[in-house]
Amino acid sequence: MNNKIYFTPGPSELYPTVPQHMQSAMANKIGSISHRSQQFKDIYAHTEKELRQLLQLPDNFEILFLSSANEIWERAIQNTVESESFHLVNGSFSKRFYEISLELGRKATKYEAPFGEGFPIDQIEVPATAELVAVVQNETSSGAATPVEAINQLRSKINPEALLFVDAVSSMPHPAFDYSQIDSVYFSVQKCFGLPAGLGVWVLNDRCIAKAEALKAKGLSIGSFHSIPSLLSKAKGYQNPETPNVLNIYLLGQVAEEMNKKGIEVIRQETETKAKLVYEYAANSQTFDIAVKEPAHRSATTIILNTKVSSAEVIKKLAPFDMVVGSGYGSYKDAQIRIANFPAHSVSQMQALVYKLQELFG
Ligand SMILES: *Cc1c(COP(=O)(O)O)cnc(C)c1O
Repeated sequence: MNNKIYFTPGPSELYPTVPQHMQSAMANKIGSISHRSQQFKDIYAHTEKELRQLLQLPDNFEILFLSSANEIWERAIQNTVESESFHLVNGSFSKRFYEISLELGRKATKYEAPFGEGFPIDQIEVPATAELVAVVQNETSSGAATPVEAINQLRSKINPEALLFVDAVSSMPHPAFDYSQIDSVYFSVQKCFGLPAGLGVWVLNDRCIAKAEALKAKGLSIGSFHSIPSLLSKAKGYQNPETPNVLNIYLLGQVAEEMNKKGIEVIRQETETKAKLVYEYAANSQTFDIAVKEPAHRSATTIILNTKVSSAEVIKKLAPFDMVVGSGYGSYKDAQIRIANFPAHSVSQMQALVYKLQELFG
């Protein structure tokens, strides 16, 4: 039996009702039903409906189910970039999207901000020839967030023809996006949705679809089963081209329904309340301090602290109390800890973590 509470930034603690939904999935033999059956189409339609409501999506946006955010990066480049993409990079995840574009033979250019910093939008020059502009809303490796206003400001600077892609993998549904300013946003379920990994959700508008169709009409390769037109042709009938992650699509629908019942505003407020608990503690701690210096750029959902003792020691000392935080990312492994603040983490759990850190480390 594992009684730990995972404050790790993904995979993380499961949404509290997931075990119960797993049981009902097993009772209904969801692992055995055909992905072409009416039962599956109803599951898919339910998940889509709940997500549309939760994310407050306008009608010109579609929702597609893929395997991960990594896959969405690759499909985004294949489907919407003939020759050039531009990336705002401030950590490992935003950098990876840039590299994938290069690996797929595109001309990818970037503006790179130092690790742990946000983007000075007014100083960034975006090439007019970039077809896709990528910005990360929440850089999970460093804890730096890009406010929605900064994303809107970025839109006003770029070629109107360019598609603006937003990585909200570790923050969705927290940011209240203005969908008239962005073309696509994507996330994976093992972060803020508190589900097992293995499902990436790609939200994209008619402009992205038109671009994929234009590239295809030119005779260019946009991939096969997971090209945008292929995914869409099946999505219209509440299916995927391949046999998808049926169980996770089901669980996502159940969790999104519960989030809707709770209300997106309540979820957002709780997230802010919990983030404040951690940041206020860290600001006065003898062992920790806040890694992101600019308050406006501090993530609400993935909180990164510099630590004077090694992250391994923090993790070891928390273990007897059944609490797990993440180590730092990459070269920051020892010098930082990462605390996920997802909807699955209750206010009282976060309060308990803060008290324990205070007691153990001051
Ligand atoms: C976790 C993460 C990804 C990658 O997600 P996968 O589901 O592992 O592909 C991408 N971007 C950000 C910001 C992330 O936190």
